[in-house]
Amino acid sequence: MRISRRTSGGRGEYEVSEFTGGITAQDLFGRRIILDFGNGWRIDTNLYLSPQGKKRRLRRFSKTGMQVQRQLAAALMLPHPVRADEPLGAGVPVARADRYAIEHIYLADGQLLGTDAAQFPVQEVILQNGSYAAQELGFTARREQIEFIWQHAAELPDPIASLVDKHRQLLAVQGAIPAEAEVVVKDLQRVMTDLGADLGIVYRSEGEDVVPDLLKTLAWAQLPPAPPVAVQEIDPDDVEIKRRTVKDWKRWANARGAQSAKFRQEVRIAYNATCIVCGLHLPRTTGFNTAAGVDAAHILPWAEFDLDHVSNGLCLCRQHHWAFDEGLLLVTWHDGAYWIEVPDDVVNGVRAQHPTFSFDELLGRVGQIPAARLPQNPQHRPRPQFLELLNETL
Ligand SMILES: [Zn+2]
Repeated sequence: MRISRRTSGGRGEYEVSEFTGGITAQDLFGRRIILDFGNGWRIDTNLYLSPQGKKRRLRRFSKTGMQVQRQLAAALMLPHPVRADEPLGAGVPVARADRYAIEHIYLADGQLLGTDAAQFPVQEVILQNGSYAAQELGFTARREQIEFIWQHAAELPDPIASLVDKHRQLLAVQGAIPAEAEVVVKDLQRVMTDLGADLGIVYRSEGEDVVPDLLKTLAWAQLPPAPPVAVQEIDPDDVEIKRRTVKDWKRWANARGAQSAKFRQEVRIAYNATCIVCGLHLPRTTGFNTAAGVDAAHILPWAEFDLDHVSNGLCLCRQHHWAFDEGLLLVTWHDGAYWIEVPDDVVNGVRAQHPTFSFDELLGRVGQIPAARLPQNPQHRPRPQFLELLNETL
């Protein structure tokens, strides 16, 4: 059996077709449709099949209930889908909020339950937008990913952890998915966008699927809590491994939740939410997200140091955080001052690979960092030894 979106000019409707397994359309008229996700997870959609001429449409028993595509999306942490063709977006990723549709829900042979319900195992979900007519979601893998995220919620930084917990609790009722679950998914997208840079996820944009990034964050949070190789033991010739090690440990340091949140806040306060490289002042606003536009970056990620002391932090705007993490710019200390440097070998290396990438902006930042951009308290300024150790490994 198949639940499919149909558009005829106006907004989309969901119809049921391809009846198999001895169950006919007549058997289903008026019965509640229960979707079996597998592994004991079921959703009583509170939807029923209604004949409309030759068409078999899904209707809601309750005016406040959500249609099938919204329930499915909220349950699977997918962005909000649309029904009509008009708002469909183009390109990839397909699943972006209000820009894609759930086109088909393929169901295996089901069974009638008593006189008022029928249950069907979900096999696959097909997404589409303006340019991709049929992208398989990979239903079973997706369900397993959601369960994995639920199980490991406590390892995620707050407020992500509490939103994931709330999602699990809303889904546990096994009834129709409430509209509140959509709000939770939307909040997750917003929070992942806010924390993205701190978690090492720099390129996310709000409205995209949060699940891949939640899984990445969990993978980083689960890295072992001791460094695999001490700084002194790294082969000086093995630059690639050193870079990767630094990157991984920074991500781990940033993904550690509440402790890390305190560090971020302290760094932002010490630097008055000002980027040490460009001087942009991007404070927490009272706008939509009340998030600062600067990040608190760790200088040294290694556990042997007091990771979360302000003197192991730098306040950077998103662009310069990226450049710092990529090793495109260095912060150094010599002659009694802090400096921005862009190493020649990095410029030449990147230019060889990406001739269109311009270093003009970064090269314009080279020079001494004005004292006004540094924390007033000398104890809070970047510790020169930390900078030196980091720069040795790059
Ligand atoms: Zn900046």
